[in-house]
Amino acid sequence: MKRVYNFNAGPSAMPLEVLKQVQEEFLDFAHTGMSIVEISHRSAAYQAMQDDTVCMLRRLLRIPDGYHIVFIQGGGSMQFIMHAANFLKHRGAYINTGVWSDKAMQAAAFYGETYEAASSKADHFTYIPEAGSAVIKPDTDYVYITSNNTIHGTEWHDFPSCNVPLFCDMSSDFLSRPVDISRFDLVYAGVQKNVGPAGVVVTIIKDSLLVQANSQLPLMLQYKTYVDHDSTYNTPPVFNIYFVNKVLHWLDAQGGLKEIEKRNIQKAHILYQVIDESDGFYKGHAVPQSRSRMNVTFNLPTPALEAEFVAQAAEASLIGLKGHRSIGGCRASIYNAVTEEGCQALAAFMMKFQKNH
Ligand code: PMP
Repeated sequence: MKRVYNFNAGPSAMPLEVLKQVQEEFLDFAHTGMSIVEISHRSAAYQAMQDDTVCMLRRLLRIPDGYHIVFIQGGGSMQFIMHAANFLKHRGAYINTGVWSDKAMQAAAFYGETYEAASSKADHFTYIPEAGSAVIKPDTDYVYITSNNTIHGTEWHDFPSCNVPLFCDMSSDFLSRPVDISRFDLVYAGVQKNVGPAGVVVTIIKDSLLVQANSQLPLMLQYKTYVDHDSTYNTPPVFNIYFVNKVLHWLDAQGGLKEIEKRNIQKAHILYQVIDESDGFYKGHAVPQSRSRMNVTFNLPTPALEAEFVAQAAEASLIGLKGHRSIGGCRASIYNAVTEEGCQALAAFMMKFQKNH
């Protein structure tokens, strides 16, 4: 078996230890004599695992009392709809930092008025606007941000404080660092970057927000349905939640979010240093103070060189370096499961490639 260095943006690298453990347990989950994909989601064995998953999320993220955690299908894109369906009454404010905030705002417009409270669109989403620069109109129901912009390679390092509820799409940096959840009223994250296989979203919702939700919606679109039925109103994505559970235990064993943040800072530093010391051969897309620790985006002098870079890297077992189709260029996604060794290998390749061109 030959594993490659995986820099895919999502679905993306998962910890090897977890993959092996899942493989080992696949035929016999929790001594049931059945696979996790064969047992009832109403069984005690399943429920214990789901409860433990919620517990681990609470513990790792230090989620305070007064919040519920639920598992929802439909990906981040369903959350683009649900947050607005439940909470957009007068107007929703969006800090537009990239394609995914833009899409959330577009989806929300189906339910009411949306507006950009701040935006870096005019500058190709190269930066995160100053936390205090957002202009919030009267009767705004919430402010919406995207903590990490997967495509553009920018990340919020200092969250805004507002006097209206704060919503955050944390899909691409969820569990990559400690976050003060009490700053937020609604947080959601598709798990397919740092935490598991695509197919489930973790949503963390404040009880004081939940009571304000629109109750005139189909049940499956109401957050309350998931809270009231402990995420099992219908069949939850059992395998995904099980996998997430394993990753959470892996994270805990690594030393938790402070330790993983330390590693992520170091990994990102290795790559940004190559970019910064390349005399302009590699040009970072994001301005330095807004750089993402998860997605390192950069350009080479020409698109032809970028294509050659991606192809030669793949030959060297460095996979997934092509930038998103909407902006081109190159992108190295270095989520929790990508090792420092992987980043060192990519850095060495980048320096060699530059030397040869
Ligand atoms: N938000 C962010 C930050 C993303 O990177 C993505 C893409 N995975 C989405 C939302 C959309 O998620 P999904 O493909 O699960 O709908």
